[in-house]
Amino acid sequence: MEIIREGDLDEKLDYVKKKLLKGGIVAFPTETVYGLGAHAFDEKAVKKIFELKNRPPDNPLIVHINNLKMLGDLVEEIPSKAHLLMEKFWPGPLTLIFKRNKKVPAIVSAGLDTIAVRMPSHPIAKKLCDIPIAAPSANKSTRPSPTTPEHVIEDFFKEDIVLIDGGKTEIGLESTVIDVVSGEILRPGKIGIEELKEWLPSVKILGLSSPPQKKVKSPGMKYRHYSPKVPLILSENLKRDIERHDGKRIGIIASCERVRGGIDKKISTGFVREYSSLEELAANLFQWFRELEKETDVILVEKVEERGIGVAIVNRLKKAASKVSS
Ligand code: AMP
Ligand code: MG
Repeated sequence: MEIIREGDLDEKLDYVKKKLLKGGIVAFPTETVYGLGAHAFDEKAVKKIFELKNRPPDNPLIVHINNLKMLGDLVEEIPSKAHLLMEKFWPGPLTLIFKRNKKVPAIVSAGLDTIAVRMPSHPIAKKLCDIPIAAPSANKSTRPSPTTPEHVIEDFFKEDIVLIDGGKTEIGLESTVIDVVSGEILRPGKIGIEELKEWLPSVKILGLSSPPQKKVKSPGMKYRHYSPKVPLILSENLKRDIERHDGKRIGIIASCERVRGGIDKKISTGFVREYSSLEELAANLFQWFRELEKETDVILVEKVEERGIGVAIVNRLKKAASKVSS
C-alpha cells in the first residue's frame, strides 16, 4: 500500500490519475465513507475490486463522477425526475439508479441493466472523479465501512493500492440510494425521506410500503454487512441485555442521557461510547465497532428513533446484527 497525505495530493494528482487510467486501485475519502475505486470502464480493474474485497459478484458498485457531462457515457437516459434531485442534492450523499449505458462493463453493475451514480462533495473525491470511478466502500466484505484511513489500512495494508489520507469522513454512513423512476429508497442514508419528499413526492422506503419482492432491487442490501467481529445486539432494553451477558466484557453504545442516568457498575467505562446527537452516532458508529470488537465479547447498541438519519442508523444496525452470512 502506498499512502498519500492530503497536503501532497495536488502535487501527486497526475500520478494518482495515471494509476487509475492504467488499471490501478485507489482508496479515497468521500463525505460518507472511504471508497475503493477503479476506472469504471476498465473491466479488469473493477474485477480486482471484487477480489480485494472478497465481494459477492452480485453486489453492484457505485460510479462516482464530478460533472454532469460524464453521465452521458454511463446512462441510457436521464428521467425527468432525476434532474430535480441532481440539482438539489449533487454534489452530495445521494446515489441515483439509471438505465446502464451498454458501454459500461456489466461487472460494474454486477450484471444488472441499471447503474448507480453519485457525485460526491468531498474535495478529494471531486479532484479525482473527472475519471468515472467505480467504488464500493473500502472495507473487506461484511466488515464495517471505513471512516478513517486507519480502517482502510487495517483491511488492505498488504495490497497493491494507493490510499489517499483525508482524515476522518464527515457523515460516516453510506449514501442514500434511490430508484428515481419507482421513487423507492433502496438504501437509507443521510438524506432522509422527509427531505426527498419535497423534490420527489412519490418517494417511499423499499420494504415498508411495498409487498415483499422475489427479486432483490438493491442486491448489496441482502447481505450481512457492517459487522464487528463480536456479536452485536440492537438493544431495546439495555438493563435486561446487560444481565443476559453477565460475566462477559460488554461494549455499550448509547446516548449521553442514557449514560448519565447510569449504565451498570459492572460495565467498564472504557467500553462505553456515548453520543449527543444522531449525527454524532452516525459519524462514529463504524469506528466504535472496530474499537470495541478488539476489547469486548459483545456490543450492545441502544435502539434509536427511526427518524431522519435514525432510519439509516437502524438499517445498518439491523444488518450488522444479522447472522445471515454472505
Ligand atoms: P457500497 O458502496 O459498498 O455500499 O456498495 C454500493 C451499493 O450500492 C450496493 O451494495 C447496492 O446496495 C447499491 N447499488 C449499486 N448499484 C445498484 C443498482 N444498479 N441497483 C440497485 N442498487 C445498487
Ligand atoms: Mg459497502
